[in-house]
Amino acid sequence: MRAAFHNEPETDFAVSENQERMRQALSEVRERLGETVPIVIGGKREDSAHTWERPDPSDTARMASRASFATAEQAERAVRAAHEAFAGWRDTPAEERAALLRRVAEEFGRRRFEIAAWQVYEVGKPWREADADVAEAMDFCRFYADEMERLAAPRKRNVPGEWNEYFYEPRGPAVIIAPWNFPLAILTGMAAAALVAGNPVVLKPSEQSTRVGYFLMEALEAAGVPPGVANFLPGEGETVGPVLVNDPRVALIAFTGSKAVGLSILRDAAEVRPGQREIKRVIAELGGKNAIVVDEDADLDEAVLGVLASAVGYAGQKCSACSRVIVVGSAYEPFCARLSEAIKSIRIGPAEDPATTLGPVVDRDAQERILRYGEVGKQEGRLIGQVDPPGGMAGYYVPALVFADCPPDGKLCQEEIFGPVLAVLRARDLTDALALAEDTQYALTGGLYSRSPENIARVRREFRVGNLYINRKITGALVDRQPFGGARLSGVGSKAGGPDYLLQFLVPRTITESVMRRGFAPSEEM
Ligand code: NAD
Repeated sequence: MRAAFHNEPETDFAVSENQERMRQALSEVRERLGETVPIVIGGKREDSAHTWERPDPSDTARMASRASFATAEQAERAVRAAHEAFAGWRDTPAEERAALLRRVAEEFGRRRFEIAAWQVYEVGKPWREADADVAEAMDFCRFYADEMERLAAPRKRNVPGEWNEYFYEPRGPAVIIAPWNFPLAILTGMAAAALVAGNPVVLKPSEQSTRVGYFLMEALEAAGVPPGVANFLPGEGETVGPVLVNDPRVALIAFTGSKAVGLSILRDAAEVRPGQREIKRVIAELGGKNAIVVDEDADLDEAVLGVLASAVGYAGQKCSACSRVIVVGSAYEPFCARLSEAIKSIRIGPAEDPATTLGPVVDRDAQERILRYGEVGKQEGRLIGQVDPPGGMAGYYVPALVFADCPPDGKLCQEEIFGPVLAVLRARDLTDALALAEDTQYALTGGLYSRSPENIARVRREFRVGNLYINRKITGALVDRQPFGGARLSGVGSKAGGPDYLLQFLVPRTITESVMRRGFAPSEEM
């Protein structure tokens, strides 16, 4: 019997050998920065007339990566290649598909420091978070491989004279559209689920993380994926996205990203186009406006640490990040005082420096957006904490900001900022705190710091977010341990890394055969 699933441990960078390996990988990757990432269709590499250039967010004078961006014609051919590969991949035994994914995980393990180093330069992810992203990608491959083997056994319900069988089949060509913030893990998670279930894929990585996304294509090839079963299509979302989504041969779209794009995909996918034979299944994991409630009796030291880690980890660019803290009653003033002290420990710097706790944000658009929200914060709230980037750094740096006394219906408390900007709100009591926490379109993550068993029980019942964390930070969900995903406008679909996820990539079939043998026609050999 196969050993039970376990999470890939994160690399311990306190161990000097690991530090050395990471430094070595960073130095090797620095030599390769600016490499051009190709398009891969039907097992063949292609380029295009449109080359995209991606600066290193920590130092924009340096080019991190280049990519050939696909045209609409190439997007159409990628879907065609996936469509043509469908029958063969569908009929490949589930155990073989699962074995392929386990080999992909091994390949990621072999290239672990190299992939993490590319994340440092391509998306400005600090060491630990970059390493955790690779570990999560490995987890997704192994977890979904196990899950597919579990689901592959048909369920039989035979009664005298009648055989009944219930089993799953793949849906068809799948389009995988990923964000940049978990550049390997999220792309791999969605793709691994589609592939292990028997659906060929067109992989559309984010513009900002094409090189890191390409590691998935390389690992799939190293693992022996047949041509056409996985196609890699770097490109501009606005150009190739609609071509992929609207293609009548596409059976499934797995998307993770912003609410605006997710909703437009849901709308487009609902329209049945000429030649289309099935209703498209859309899985859309979207944004959040996540709150942590700090109860009156909470351990404020713990709460401050957890809030800060949740708010500024990867510069607040996580869908699970904390962007609102709701503090109950008399805890409000002491909490604000400690938070504005604690924020001073943040060290802003380049992602390649292991001492950095707050790296750059992903690109100029993000930088400008976050700076704008800083201005909004000054109008709506009271600035109680600010850490500025040191001068002389040419990157997409932003200050870390904390605002108190924020109005619950203001922009700071309602809009997803996706940066290190935190709003603190005052609540009269727990009832008020829960009302404020729930006062958003989103329902992704949430948290509570409390020492009261009664209040904990109540918040468990009434704070209806997808992932609720009690007395710990609200980011860092692990595959299988904390299946991840939201409700309301945070998305449709069941949780990634959980027991129901693969079902979305499958179609169940039931076959009933009457075996009251009233005589069969003899077959020819008899
Ligand atoms: P985004 O929506 O801008 O882009 C996501 C992907 O969609 C990219 O690959 C992009 O090229 C593509 N795209 C853009 N326009 C498209 C179109 N018209 N048709 C099809 N595809 C198109 O999001 P982002 O900036 O990459 O990621 C940040 C967002 O993702 C945040 O809102 C964050 O909360 C969310 N997110 C959610 C989760 C989750 O699990 N719920 C996880 C990570 C990120």
